[in-house]
Amino acid sequence: MTDEVSAVARAIVSCTRCPRLVAWRTETAGPAGVGSPVAGFGDPQAGVFLLGMATAAAGGNCTGRAFTGNRSARTLVAALHRAGFANQPTSEHVGDGLRLDRAWMASAVRCPPPGNRPLAAERDACLGHLRAELAALGRVRVVVCLGVFAWDAALRCVDADPRPRFRHGREHVGPDGLVVLGCYHPSPQNTATGLLTPPMLDAVLHRARELMV
Ligand code: SF4
Repeated sequence: MTDEVSAVARAIVSCTRCPRLVAWRTETAGPAGVGSPVAGFGDPQAGVFLLGMATAAAGGNCTGRAFTGNRSARTLVAALHRAGFANQPTSEHVGDGLRLDRAWMASAVRCPPPGNRPLAAERDACLGHLRAELAALGRVRVVVCLGVFAWDAALRCVDADPRPRFRHGREHVGPDGLVVLGCYHPSPQNTATGLLTPPMLDAVLHRARELMV
């Protein structure tokens, strides 16, 4: 971890900007939970940034690591492993040995929201952390946006104007060449209904790898 990335992580985990989410993250963390915002996780040399909607109450807020310990995490990390971005196909807890290679994963809103529905104001309040993390990482060439909420956050992050509508597989190139790439969220709802299949996820990650070189 570089000094810059560590400094951003410290700023994120101590953030209290959103009173509604501060209360909810504490209430839902449970006795074993962390109850603080969750910084990104992965390889500081990442070329690909996987961006989710918000920290999951039963995932990151309990385990302390992004995309860890819930079903969305299992789907995503299995795909990252198939694509060569992860050393193992599972993501269960911070001591599970997971390492990412040239990939980073985080959520647009770093605290869990009630009903898994963050507000637009909370997305905007958290954008500074996303900008800071991208700047500290320094080598990210593509942001894979997992769902429309993450897509909107990333487009705001690159000051896209106008902002194209979300579509699975859509690409938007920011002014500095950073590519925003749309992908359905790997939620149980999307995978159970077949809206997102493993081959679709594999194709997006294959495209992300092409874009990062
Ligand atoms: S959602 Fe983001 S800005 Fe709001 S309290 Fe959590 S870390 Fe801070």
